[in-house]
Amino acid sequence: MYGVYVHVPWCRYRCPYCAFVVDTRSAPDHEGWRARVLGDWAREREHFAGRPTTLSFGGGTPSRAPPAVLGAVAAAVAATGEVSLEANPDDIDAEHLAAWRDLGVTRLSVGVQSFQPALAPRLGRAHSAREARRALDLAQAAGFSSVSVDLIFGHAAQTEAELVDDIAEVARRGLGHVSLYTLTLEPGSRFAARGEPLADDERWAALHERAVAELEAAGLARYELSNFARPGHRSVHNEHYWRARAWAGLGPAAHGWRPSGVRVANADDVDAWLAGAQAVEERPDPEALLFELVWSTIRHVDGVDRERVRAATGWLPRVPGAAVAAGLVVESPASIRLLPAGFAVSDAVARSIVRTTLTAGV
Ligand code: SF4
Repeated sequence: MYGVYVHVPWCRYRCPYCAFVVDTRSAPDHEGWRARVLGDWAREREHFAGRPTTLSFGGGTPSRAPPAVLGAVAAAVAATGEVSLEANPDDIDAEHLAAWRDLGVTRLSVGVQSFQPALAPRLGRAHSAREARRALDLAQAAGFSSVSVDLIFGHAAQTEAELVDDIAEVARRGLGHVSLYTLTLEPGSRFAARGEPLADDERWAALHERAVAELEAAGLARYELSNFARPGHRSVHNEHYWRARAWAGLGPAAHGWRPSGVRVANADDVDAWLAGAQAVEERPDPEALLFELVWSTIRHVDGVDRERVRAATGWLPRVPGAAVAAGLVVESPASIRLLPAGFAVSDAVARSIVRTTLTAGV
């Protein structure tokens, strides 16, 4: 069972909080991108058995690419299950929705970030709150199996009432899935350069706690650190990452993890990748693999599979007693799982598990 991730780097402009690998040229080389992605797929498919179960177009802004170009990639990859696509509200219209459906998209993820008329422009989004609502009206009527919304929180100017109202909008619409991200000052972003004010730790914790409570009360259960779903609406593709399953990465800056354990990183410079720059292939050493397995799987409600980590690295993951006493994690012979309080400090918990495991030895 494996997935395929395809990075579509094109964006209308760079959002001020974003440091992803994106390309804002006005006339993107879509045909060049298609040819190189198919080349990446020809390279990667040799290392995987059978057809992928999922395909995910992420970015960047996949909704900026011509549907025919995306369709050529979807046809070549021929996933057996979920095909997801990230779309910005300002790219959503009836024509595009129909074209995405025709090329096999089953799941649409809409980058709303906020419905608030005052906050959305502060986040530098190209769409207004009204446009976001209109885009969702169209997307929800278009017949996808699942429509997801990205929300962001943690700007100093954001009130708790605004965040609660964003979640209420999602709940009213009966959306099946929400990704709730923390606004951070990513190195290289304009927000980082100008020191955009963020909520302090105490306020962040209060906003986070309230948001999780509101989402869960609306029937959207947390199944990963930043992801909430109604039954049957989880992101099957993203669960490949959080369960540390293999996936192939196609496109500039895409990463993959082959079943052999080899990590693949495509060139993160769009022009260099278009010109055919070689991907870097690397097999992580056991310590790096231990960190990666713990860090990625602790984020998921199923947690760390202890025997699987031991089989892969030689170490049986161990939990610091202080984390258990503090009510951050719960352990069983089979797994280590975060408790609600632990999700707020998941990175620190992951680091402490790795430290304790390495100190205890095999
Ligand atoms: S946040 Fe999304 S739309 Fe904005 S620049 Fe980054 S990838 Fe592009």
